[in-house]
Amino acid sequence: GFCPSTGIYHSKWVSPLLPQNPYLSLPSFLLSPLLPKTLHKPAFIDSTSGDSVTYGQLRSLTVTAACTLRALGVKRGDVVLIVSPNSLHFPLLVLGVMYIGAIFSTANPLHTRPELQAQIQDSNPILILTTQEHKPKLDGLISGLLIMVQTFMDDVLNHQPQHHTCKSSKVVISQGETAALMYSSGTTGKSKAVVCSHGNLIAMSCLLSHVWEAQAHGEACKDVYMCVVPLFHMFGLSIFVCGVLAVRSTVVIVQKYSIEEMLVAVEEYKVTRLPVVPPIIVQLVRLRNGAKGVELGSLKEVICSGAPLGKDYMECFSKCYPHVRLSQCYGLTETNGPITLCDGVSGRLHVSIGRLIPCLEAKIVEVQTGKLLPPLKYGELCVRGPPIMQGYFKNQEATSIAINEEGWLHTGDLCFIDTCGLVYILDRIKELIKYKAYQVAPAELEEVLLSHPQIDDAAVIPYPDEEAGEIPMACVVRSEASKLKEIEIINYVTTKVAPYKRVRKVVFLESIPRSPSGKILRRQLRALSTYQRLEI
Ligand code: AMP
Repeated sequence: GFCPSTGIYHSKWVSPLLPQNPYLSLPSFLLSPLLPKTLHKPAFIDSTSGDSVTYGQLRSLTVTAACTLRALGVKRGDVVLIVSPNSLHFPLLVLGVMYIGAIFSTANPLHTRPELQAQIQDSNPILILTTQEHKPKLDGLISGLLIMVQTFMDDVLNHQPQHHTCKSSKVVISQGETAALMYSSGTTGKSKAVVCSHGNLIAMSCLLSHVWEAQAHGEACKDVYMCVVPLFHMFGLSIFVCGVLAVRSTVVIVQKYSIEEMLVAVEEYKVTRLPVVPPIIVQLVRLRNGAKGVELGSLKEVICSGAPLGKDYMECFSKCYPHVRLSQCYGLTETNGPITLCDGVSGRLHVSIGRLIPCLEAKIVEVQTGKLLPPLKYGELCVRGPPIMQGYFKNQEATSIAINEEGWLHTGDLCFIDTCGLVYILDRIKELIKYKAYQVAPAELEEVLLSHPQIDDAAVIPYPDEEAGEIPMACVVRSEASKLKEIEIINYVTTKVAPYKRVRKVVFLESIPRSPSGKILRRQLRALSTYQRLEI
């Protein structure tokens, strides 16, 4: 509801009681009390091999993984970085690291060696867990240990019977301690580490499970989820570790996404709920329009998040798959997962991103002045509540730009809230570009472009793209007499960044519009990109 005297919106869902015990870790919260009927239920299943981990196994393996980490010298407060695609082991490593009070961090395995190096220098991990495929990029980058996930897991499984001995040395962890460092560029600048506390993730688990249980009339455990989005991103981590384990559902993990693999596995495992990013909706619609034979019979709901989903695609999807509810949710790495969810009404087109999850407060403020705005007026969405991050790691300046003294997080998204409490997102006002829902920070690409000897100035902005949502477009000022071509610039950037960050379009300008203080006037450039579009 909206309170006219304060200008603040509160969630319409009844707030659950969050765990009051100040000494509680995420793994203990999720796995300590397990009902007998849950012990033998699969928590995670690998879609290809069919291998699974039950809740009981997950709990004992978490303890053994924690002991193995400790035997390797990992201590409370140390950072452990995982560079790996999705696998059955991924959630186990998350829980094992957190169990001993160490800090879990992730990197996109597509990152180049320099990108990984920058992140390693920033967070200083004592141990990196990776796969054979990605090891060469990491060799020599860390003074600590570099271990293969498979080797580590073999160790864990071999030591399983001894886990009782290390159980006794369990550490007491407080909710305020750091549980994870997840990278995001926030509203401005380069990628930085979001500090997530155990309390943040426990709150996210409780709030997601509270809403899901309400929607499923207390039978949320019957849902079968499929994980095709990356677990190294907060969307994946919050849904598939925090939310799903809290409601005791099962997750089918797809190691390497392809639409065919996904559809076969949906049928095979009778998946009921499928969280996706917008490019997957585009693929599903195209597939249905081109061919037949895709029924998705078991599927009840597809939940889309991470980037805007076009209304046309929503309508097409609903026509192609009439028995599947398409809903949206919305969140940021900085909010530790979704902060709006759609209520489970079938047959309604969810153009809105849903309503605030319980315990969350929101306000809409005028972008230039920060003035509070009433319902139906659009401005920047600001949010406050238990899942909001602690701040950016060792970066007070960025933290105070993102979160004000009263605890309000600036989302950098242009939104409005209607009189029913439904939130709508109109545009992004922050610098961030989203290529297939992956974060691309313009500041990083601008630095790469400026390192080219024939580029005097550069700015990178989003350019609309049907399939990817947005592609990075470079606005470049060449040095005098330079004949540098678009393709040369594209190739230059390609050698230096992960594939999803590539510059895919270039325009040449006489100068980059900047404010008196030197800040790039991105709005003006975006207007120009609209103009460019008209020309094509
Ligand atoms: P990330 O930290 O990578 O999760 O990115 C968060 C940003 O993704 C948000 O601030 C939004 O700009 C965008 N985003 C997330 N969910 C949605 C959604 N359902 N619709 C539109 N944009 C979204």
